[in-house]
Amino acid sequence: MNNTALQAEEIYKTYHLGGCELPVLRGVNFELKRGEFVALQGASGSGKSTLLQLLGGLDRPTSGTIRFQGEPLRLQTAQQAAVFRGNNVGFVFQAYHLLPDLDALENVMLPAQVQRTSQAEALLRARELLSTVGLADRMENRPSELSGGEQQRVAIARALMNDPEIVLADEPTGNLDSNTEAVIIDLLNKLHQERNLTLLVATHDEVVAAAAQRVEHLIDGKLTD
Ligand code: ADP
Ligand code: MG
Repeated sequence: MNNTALQAEEIYKTYHLGGCELPVLRGVNFELKRGEFVALQGASGSGKSTLLQLLGGLDRPTSGTIRFQGEPLRLQTAQQAAVFRGNNVGFVFQAYHLLPDLDALENVMLPAQVQRTSQAEALLRARELLSTVGLADRMENRPSELSGGEQQRVAIARALMNDPEIVLADEPTGNLDSNTEAVIIDLLNKLHQERNLTLLVATHDEVVAAAAQRVEHLIDGKLTD
């Protein structure tokens, strides 16, 4: 079995804005091994979210190759990209992105709908995941009835629903106070250790970066250790 989860080879990404070119990534080389917890650090606007989107199949590079478990990603259609993400990638965002009309349990179960998981199986797994993130007694609460930290824990449980090969978290503590941030960092650490989660966390926060096994810095469109 291939020991690398993700590889980026000479990744370039240039955005085109009304006739202007904005080169964001300029030759990124990167490897994420299975079971690794890596932090991606960089100033605001340095391209962290852009790189996560490329690695997770949400967007495609201008040039260069992304490999998933050794094989080049070939996501020609939106459908192919959606299937890849659904099977392999869990996303966690700064603003949680929970659906307001669904309760915690229903939010966590959402990713299972694109899989061929039975409702009963999905329910069981969603309950187990919400317990794991410490929300066993909040399963029937809607996002508006939960604190920011609790909403992010729901979002983390949702990211794990399809048992993804990789979890990509984009500023997961960016909206949280420092106490709540510590809770989320501890949770990510626990999941990494107990479930051997492969985790890439973009952050401009030193505290989050300090929790990772390795830190990559995005500067001038390139990575340095
Ligand atoms: P970070 O996550 O490190 O703050 P981003 O990847 O969000 O950085 O953005 C990097 C640069 O690319 C910024 O200058 C941003 O304005 C620009 N950018 C990001 N997404 C787009 C887009 N879809 N179209 C045009 N420019 C973008
Ligand atoms: Mg960002």
